[in-house]
Amino acid sequence: MRPIEDRVKVCRYYRSPAMHESCEKGRVYDEVNRRDELGSTGCMLRMPCLGDTQGSVVRGQTIEPCDLHEPHTREEIEAEDKAFQRAMELMKQGLSSCCEAPIDTSHVIPDGKHKNHGPRYCSECGRLAYMV
Ligand SMILES: [Zn+2]
Repeated sequence: MRPIEDRVKVCRYYRSPAMHESCEKGRVYDEVNRRDELGSTGCMLRMPCLGDTQGSVVRGQTIEPCDLHEPHTREEIEAEDKAFQRAMELMKQGLSSCCEAPIDTSHVIPDGKHKNHGPRYCSECGRLAYMV
């Protein structure tokens, strides 16, 4: 995992460009990384969303800062880590992270080629806990 000093710089509106055209604020990624113009290789390096790239020069192009950039606070990152660690602990005990209730494994495939695959649900609220 990246050190906390790097993670706080990442914009709170950032979401994976592999899955989304724009950030949570609606800024279209191609406007900031200009992938169509500059090519896809190394376009992640041109993302101002990650914080430390702003103002640096990649392949002769200066990375423009994004006016929507809003970094995290240290407290937020620490709380995220804590929540993640707690969820992992609960998972090891077979409990859901939402209700700390037993995991419902009734939809798991019992045998054959895909044995043990399938969704696990929270037995309390029915929310999807995780997929295997
Ligand atoms: Zn639940």
